[in-house]
Amino acid sequence: MTVQIFLFCFIVTSVTMPSLPSPVVIHNLVEKKLPLVEHDKPKVVAHRADPKPTPSLHLEKSREINAKPCKPHRPDSCSQNICKQYSINLKMNKAYFNFRYNKCFCSQCYPITKADYFTVAGSIYTVPRHWIRFGLQIDQTFAESKQIFKQWYTTFYGTSKGKLESIINNRFVPMPGDHLLSNEIFTTRLSDKHHVYTSPSIKYACLKHVCPVDIVNIHSEWYDVQIILECKQNPEGIVKQHGYRQNVCNIIPDNEIEWKTDRRASIIPYGLLIHVQKHRCTKECINIHS
Ligand SMILES: [Zn+2]
Ligand SMILES: [Zn+2]
Ligand SMILES: [Zn+2]
Repeated sequence: MTVQIFLFCFIVTSVTMPSLPSPVVIHNLVEKKLPLVEHDKPKVVAHRADPKPTPSLHLEKSREINAKPCKPHRPDSCSQNICKQYSINLKMNKAYFNFRYNKCFCSQCYPITKADYFTVAGSIYTVPRHWIRFGLQIDQTFAESKQIFKQWYTTFYGTSKGKLESIINNRFVPMPGDHLLSNEIFTTRLSDKHHVYTSPSIKYACLKHVCPVDIVNIHSEWYDVQIILECKQNPEGIVKQHGYRQNVCNIIPDNEIEWKTDRRASIIPYGLLIHVQKHRCTKECINIHS
């Protein structure tokens, strides 16, 4: 309990301080008071989108271990099983994953009363509501030496299943034009070939121009599936700008919703986010999916 009180004080202190990074001393104190904390545990502050001050400000960990299984709920309300099946169909080596960090953000598993966004390293990112996260293995030595879960921002990178394995295998999001280990040249759909684009907003990162919909049949039903990588991103060298669309997100302002960087190895994926919804046919595809 004293640890919680201490952490609460730390959070309140860091929120009211005008600028981060906070002194290293504070981080060290927190670590000493928390014997079970892992080296990569972030100092993350949770918020509701409600502008009113919230009395229940508390610590959340974006790498929080999901020890408890989901509570039972209506069978089609949580899409974990569909997402899991989709992730199996990707046929990726299990060694890429760290299932301790799986987490479901559907409305059953992550109720509406919980935080809408988090602050880490002084930077806001939105909760990926309605998405399911599969934890990814990261290079622990790199993560520790750069303290990425304390000092780096959290961002989202929309992608597609064809590119997924090359990115994860690469350990960081490649630059367009990079010659990958698989002998492929990494390409994106964007015209700018000199930067990698991310967003602190899940709603912006899932726009179709960067995050195409994959229509798949799972257990005899058609679904629209999208995938996004949840990443730790080096704050240095980020340019924040207007997105190509307005009013996409109610949390991140329009003028800094799209981030770009030309720094290599500055975006490390640590979670595979999957979103599924029942497919609705258009005139063009009704013959294929009925
Ligand atoms: Zn669930
Ligand atoms: Zn769920
Ligand atoms: Zn269809």
